[in-house]
Amino acid sequence: MQDMTEATARGLELCPAEPPFLRGRLRVYLKKTTGENPDVRLGGKWRPPNCTARHKVAIVIPFRDRETHLRVLLRHLHPILQRQQLDYGVYVVEQYGNGTFNKATLMNIAYVFALSEDDYSCFIFHDVDLLSEDDRNLYTCADQPKHLSVAVDTLKYRLPYEDIFGGVVALTADQFRRVNGFSNLYWGWGAEDDDMSRRVRMSGWKILRPPVSIARFRMIPHKKRRASAAKDRVYDHIVSNFTADGLNSLEYELVSVYKNRLLTHIVANLKLQEPRWTNVTDEHTVTRNKTMHRNRRKYGNP
Ligand code: UDP
Ligand code: MN
Repeated sequence: MQDMTEATARGLELCPAEPPFLRGRLRVYLKKTTGENPDVRLGGKWRPPNCTARHKVAIVIPFRDRETHLRVLLRHLHPILQRQQLDYGVYVVEQYGNGTFNKATLMNIAYVFALSEDDYSCFIFHDVDLLSEDDRNLYTCADQPKHLSVAVDTLKYRLPYEDIFGGVVALTADQFRRVNGFSNLYWGWGAEDDDMSRRVRMSGWKILRPPVSIARFRMIPHKKRRASAAKDRVYDHIVSNFTADGLNSLEYELVSVYKNRLLTHIVANLKLQEPRWTNVTDEHTVTRNKTMHRNRRKYGNP
């Protein structure tokens, strides 16, 4: 995949197909928050100074209350993206107010916003707490959607189930548009990634995965959020009609856009309403939900 970026206009040769400065397996610092990123431009943007990047990539990080994670990630990630010779921008997207978190809708919003700024051809949707262990795992898109976080330390470096498509994933701008983005229905739920996996498969694509030997990540330790969320979960199953639910049903108000040298931080007010009927859990539902949750993890959404 090649982009005709400004560098072409600047008359620079295309960067080599194999980035020459990769280090391979990396030392991962789970707590380090400071480092040098001398050349990053306002908004967390960078491109190779001496060649035309082959990929124009937006990194999208959904965010709430994880400031330390974000600092650690940014310190770790910028140098990797630079060694990979990408033309990139980093977008952190946060929800306005204290309402139930809707990670998937935030990622849809960041997609729309990033494209309004720049002609990104590739989007990487990135959990704030995942650190790549190997810079040969390229933050680029392919002709099929790609799952980058194949082997995560907290999951014993194994795929927990075949259709998993969460953590760090890459879709071209076009692939993302064709699946109508993420579902907007997953309030505080955490299965929006399985829904995306289904969208991808229903569109006739197969999920690509780099070899486990390089597609390794460490997760910054944090309290398990989903286990407790599952307790309060009302629905065992969501049926999302992907042609009607996604980018084309997105409603929000951009509240603010902050930029510094490491990132563009978008804050959005979600206009879509969470269903009001959310307090019907009783002991019976709770147990049943737990079973369903296990089954979903095993088999994915039907
Ligand atoms: N997230 C966040 N704040 C929250 C919940 C989620 O920033 O309160 C974002 C963050 O990017 C995080 C991702 O959503 O990495 C997935 O949530 P979490 O890490 O809790 O899920 P896990 O996959 O570890 O169960
Ligand atoms: Mn996590």
